[in-house]
Amino acid sequence: MLKLYNTLTRSKDEFIPLDKEMVKMYSCGPTVYSEAHVGNMRAYIFMDTLRKTLKYNGYKLNHVMNITDVGHMTSDADEGEDKMEKAARETKRNPLDIAKEYTDKFLRDIDKLNIERPEHITPATEHIREMEAYVKRIMDNGYAYETSKGIYFDTSKLPSYGELSRVNLEKQMAGARIEVDEEKRNPLDFALWIKAPENHIMKWDSIWGICYPGWHIECCAMSNKYLGEKFDIHTGGVDHIPIHHENEIAQAKGATGVNPANYWIHNEFLLMDGGKMSKSLGNCYTVTTIEERGYEPLSYRYLNFTSHYRNKLNYTWEGIDAAQTSLNRLRENYKEHVNGTGTVEKTEIARLEQEFLDAINDDMNMPAALAVVWEIAKNNNRSKDYAKLLDKFDTVLSLGMSLEPFRKEETVEVDANIEALLERRKQARLNKDFKTSDEIRDELLSLGYKVIDTKEGQKIEKV
Ligand code: AMP
Ligand code: ZN
Repeated sequence: MLKLYNTLTRSKDEFIPLDKEMVKMYSCGPTVYSEAHVGNMRAYIFMDTLRKTLKYNGYKLNHVMNITDVGHMTSDADEGEDKMEKAARETKRNPLDIAKEYTDKFLRDIDKLNIERPEHITPATEHIREMEAYVKRIMDNGYAYETSKGIYFDTSKLPSYGELSRVNLEKQMAGARIEVDEEKRNPLDFALWIKAPENHIMKWDSIWGICYPGWHIECCAMSNKYLGEKFDIHTGGVDHIPIHHENEIAQAKGATGVNPANYWIHNEFLLMDGGKMSKSLGNCYTVTTIEERGYEPLSYRYLNFTSHYRNKLNYTWEGIDAAQTSLNRLRENYKEHVNGTGTVEKTEIARLEQEFLDAINDDMNMPAALAVVWEIAKNNNRSKDYAKLLDKFDTVLSLGMSLEPFRKEETVEVDANIEALLERRKQARLNKDFKTSDEIRDELLSLGYKVIDTKEGQKIEKV
């Protein structure tokens, strides 16, 4: 039996899908105004592990992930400026070009982490009409009102508002550092549709004039379009619970009368050396940083499995180094099992399969799943039966178990003379002067350096 921790009920609930074969799932995707950092990637590794756990249990998936390319505000309290708009203004670029660049980078990074792409990956700006229609439904049902700034959700019309975060609304309102907007009926009312100022770049003509959407409306419009009014699972990071997801539920109730998802599942945060990640501290690491430091992106995937997704995880380079070492050892052991000649009792295979299944079905207890994997990996009875079992488990883990162990590339320190020879050889090759290029290669060899030509250019090794 698959059990998942549901933020809505605050308990580990048995997973019962609406349709017994096909699971409908929605995940809040990235805001593509800058490169996604490893913290964001924790949310998508968790999402992917959930996908693969569901598949391992025999379900098919209809899974939607949005790309936020409009509407996400700079402040946690859902105020300030649109992040895309701000990036466009600061870099003097077209917001859609910025969105394209970072969407491509995001997709490249999730591929490197073996994160399977959801069935639908959909940008908000391609769903403006759906969002407008959704706002109209809320308005027609009497849950929203118009001000000079836009269309606002009236939280006082929904007694259940706050059900996901279970916050004390009175307390929250008292403490809210919300700018006083005289036109808002209640301090916690939030924008569904915003009237665009004259100089705003991203704006669309609509029922209420030239506007742009609020952030929360995109997830409702897109989940409704691709999954219907009711679906099974909604995922995101814990930071989304009090505002974004609370507001998604409110909007859906205003439009359709129901909470759209039965299971709201959230991953805890990744911390940097025990603290927050921030650009000013220079610790916003990305998948590219992991590679630049000479590690394989999958080492980060492994690191994620060393902790439960509902616990905070601390990111350190020592942690990545240890994860890479473990992953390499796992692959070495796997290879020995592939070449092994031993046999394993069917009952033993069944026991291990059951233990792995119990671990992932216990709210995705990946540390426990890894323990089963290591029990097999370390078994001295080297057997193809064990290799097959590891292959099966890797359909969930996606650690590239059958790959060669990853070797860190050693950077070779060279003096100015070698540097100059390499530069001359590079120029010779660009000029197709292969005679000179070969002569320099031989000279470098006589000085103790072997040159290798790769797609990325020439590399050298000490001989
Ligand atoms: P954003 O691009 O800001 O919309 O965030 C994308 C996803 O990353 C959301 O699900 C966030 O909750 C999640 N997220 C952001 N920071 C972290 C972090 N440090 N650790 C884990 N998840 C995070
Ligand atoms: Zn969302």
